[in-house]
Amino acid sequence: MSAALHDLTLVQLSAQLQSRAVSAAEAATHFIARRDAHASLGAFLATDDRITLAQAQAADARLATGDNAPLLGVPIAHKDIFVTQDFPTTAGSKMLAGYRSPFDATVVTKLSQAGMVTLGKLNCDEFAMGSSNENSAFGPVENPWDASRVPGGSSGGSAAAVAARLTPAATGTDTGGSIRQPASFCGITGIKPTYGRASRYGMVAFASSLDQAGPMARTAQDCALLLNAICGPDLDRDSTSLDMPAEDYSRSLTQSLKGLRIGIPKEFFGDGLSPDVRAAIDAALKEYQKLGAQLVDISLPRTELSIPVYYIIAPAEASSNLSRFDGVKFGHRAKDYTDLLDMYKKTRAQGFGDEVKRRIMIGAYVLSHGYYDAYYIQAQKIRRMIADDFQQAFTQCDVIAGPVAPTVAWKLGEKSADPVANYLADIFTLPASLAGLPGMSLPCGFGEGGMPVGLQLIGNYFKEGQLLNAAHQLQLATDWHQRQPEVSV
Ligand code: GLN
Repeated sequence: MSAALHDLTLVQLSAQLQSRAVSAAEAATHFIARRDAHASLGAFLATDDRITLAQAQAADARLATGDNAPLLGVPIAHKDIFVTQDFPTTAGSKMLAGYRSPFDATVVTKLSQAGMVTLGKLNCDEFAMGSSNENSAFGPVENPWDASRVPGGSSGGSAAAVAARLTPAATGTDTGGSIRQPASFCGITGIKPTYGRASRYGMVAFASSLDQAGPMARTAQDCALLLNAICGPDLDRDSTSLDMPAEDYSRSLTQSLKGLRIGIPKEFFGDGLSPDVRAAIDAALKEYQKLGAQLVDISLPRTELSIPVYYIIAPAEASSNLSRFDGVKFGHRAKDYTDLLDMYKKTRAQGFGDEVKRRIMIGAYVLSHGYYDAYYIQAQKIRRMIADDFQQAFTQCDVIAGPVAPTVAWKLGEKSADPVANYLADIFTLPASLAGLPGMSLPCGFGEGGMPVGLQLIGNYFKEGQLLNAAHQLQLATDWHQRQPEVSV
């Protein structure tokens, strides 16, 4: 039985735990072994098996009392951007090497209270800046479908670990696409909820007006269970968390799609979209038509502007957020320096990687006296127009569908010398991020090199249930999400 534990979805594993066919300790032991057998993937940055097994034993004790919390005893791993007391937190940066938080992020606390067992911390781009995981100070992550390709980013370790079945579930964060794009590149399912739906407390901040936590797993049904636990207000700790009670998204997963209007934004299907990705998206849309949905042509006219707007606003916020890494309060401090200013300079020069430095410089520039009006204020105005464009679109449709990324996962090293090439690949995920809308990625076939393609669904504010249901209905009717990369063991 235990040989196939990693082949189960989260929902299936939960049923095995509830029926006591398998114990949480057995599940944890199985996934620890599998995680270690695939260490070369580079997905995990920190593990502590004593902690993992102690959590599993605590879960077994709860299971023995008849506790039927659905996530109880199910293993999970956290993107290393969530601070944790029991494991070190690096945010993928040398700046935080060896850092240990005195508290847990709210999302981690909630999942632990739900009884999940932590397998460790997952690799990511430094401070979540990137789309290939190559910006991690601790090395890249391999895509389980093809070790010569990137897993996507910044939640690359999360996506690779789930795709390789090293864990049934992982957390991710999405500022401009970092849940959706790696989910797409690795052939798994991930959802970024509405901005504010999940607490940002204890997430190492990148761009605070955009950062949002969400789950990554094999299916929409799995994501619904995880999202149930993650969402909810945390007003004392995150003033932008929304004062809305948590929902039971699993209950949304029974709706027929008959009459659902799916908006197809023409700007997502232009010349930049590679033909293999387009073919996979078209096939998924045909399935939706078979399920009774209706495709509606819509326009999101400022899609292209989302790139310059995001790459002004996100670096601006990052330059402010990252000023706290000064060698005094957290993490790394340069060894030799002459005075305080010299200590700041050397600490930051040594601690940050190239991409992070680039963003800090761009951010400081667009916020500076002479350029604030020309760049930052303009970007904020266009951000508002992008959000308005979505509201216009949602008068014609219920959900929006399109590609997550213009191509399948690229080769390691292919774009690492060209930051702009990386930025351009974010074009289809940035609009929903700037508008604060929920968005998800689900597998919809395979493209060039046999690599997975993700379908993006974008919903209106608080319509996570509708998105998850639309994804679930497609997953009931198709088997793209069941295909697995051939990883040995
Ligand atoms: N690729 C985008 C960036 O580099 C998005 C990253 C994210 O969502 N964290 O900023």
